[in-house]
Amino acid sequence: MRKAVSLPEEVLSELYRCFRCGLCRSACPTFAVKGSEGWNARGRLMMARYMAEGLLEPDEAFSDRLFSCNSCGACEVVCPAGVKVADALRAVREALLGAGISPPGKVAELAKAILEHGNPWSKEVARRPTDEKKPILVFTGCVASELEPGIVKAVEKVLEASGLSYSVLEGPCCGFPLFKMGLREEARRAAEALAGELKAAGPKLVITPCPGCTEMLERYFPALTGLKVQVEHATVFFRRLLREGRLVLKRKVELKAAYHDPCVLARSLGIYEAPRELLWQSGLVLAEMEANRQMTGCCGYGQLGFLTYPDLAEAMAKRRVEEALRTGADVLVTACPSCLHAFSEAVKEVARSLAVSDITEVLAELV
Ligand code: SF4
Ligand code: SF4
Repeated sequence: MRKAVSLPEEVLSELYRCFRCGLCRSACPTFAVKGSEGWNARGRLMMARYMAEGLLEPDEAFSDRLFSCNSCGACEVVCPAGVKVADALRAVREALLGAGISPPGKVAELAKAILEHGNPWSKEVARRPTDEKKPILVFTGCVASELEPGIVKAVEKVLEASGLSYSVLEGPCCGFPLFKMGLREEARRAAEALAGELKAAGPKLVITPCPGCTEMLERYFPALTGLKVQVEHATVFFRRLLREGRLVLKRKVELKAAYHDPCVLARSLGIYEAPRELLWQSGLVLAEMEANRQMTGCCGYGQLGFLTYPDLAEAMAKRRVEEALRTGADVLVTACPSCLHAFSEAVKEVARSLAVSDITEVLAELV
């Protein structure tokens, strides 16, 4: 028997606002890789609409189209109707799960790992103890902590060079990927676990190198956990330290850099200039990529896509590295652990001559 999936009125109005012009095909990174409408914003919205109208039975293929949307928001920038695609698709995923339809296997595994281990890796990870009552807490997020620890070391080195007292909280997963995928209850449980640790540490300010953690703590934690924390992305905090003269760069690095705007940092949080100012202060000559700022391309690894749809994620990362190569840059710089991981993997296959770095790592070399 068909399972009924009803959608809230405000979600339906987003679905119906799409007038099927197809402009989103020029922006959607999953469409760029797959080349078929089901992997594009328009196709996903149409399938959701047909499902709500009882014309389409949700099946595995439909779930894959829905869950592989990584909420990058590129389609929304070009959409003439102003459809809030990412939020609408998140709500559709949430409704599917609410109707008792299971998420794709890899998504279910990811949620299980995060809830059982506090991280997506399905294993216990040794974490150093967090000092309490320091004014600044560096929250690493799960990806930097496990896959890109160089970023954590870099953040610490910059803070030490600035003479600041801080503590470090390594991981756990803040729940952001689960929240964006529509697994609200699982996200809430992950967020609650982290909120307990943040309350115990009691900092005045949380800084994190991860845009996803920044958005999660700033926007969704109050409703999900009741906890309000002051949080800043590392690029914003470090720019302030530089402007105040607390952070001094002792030398410059004279290389040409392509800067990849992470989707969440740029489109969602509106942080475009802080990383560019840090690049400029470092001496790097900025070579803008064709898709930049609001129109930035997705690295593929956001929302932990490399664990749920690895082939798609890897193809997206390679496309972005190829774009960076076309600028003639020596180094591809970003400001997100997931983007850094995506590009570090992709360059091994398509551009061994291109260095990749997080902006925090660039700064750490210069203090
Ligand atoms: S949010 Fe990104 S991945 Fe999802 S439909 Fe829009 S452009 Fe495609
Ligand atoms: S650009 Fe907007 S209105 Fe046009 S097809 Fe895509 S989602 Fe629909």
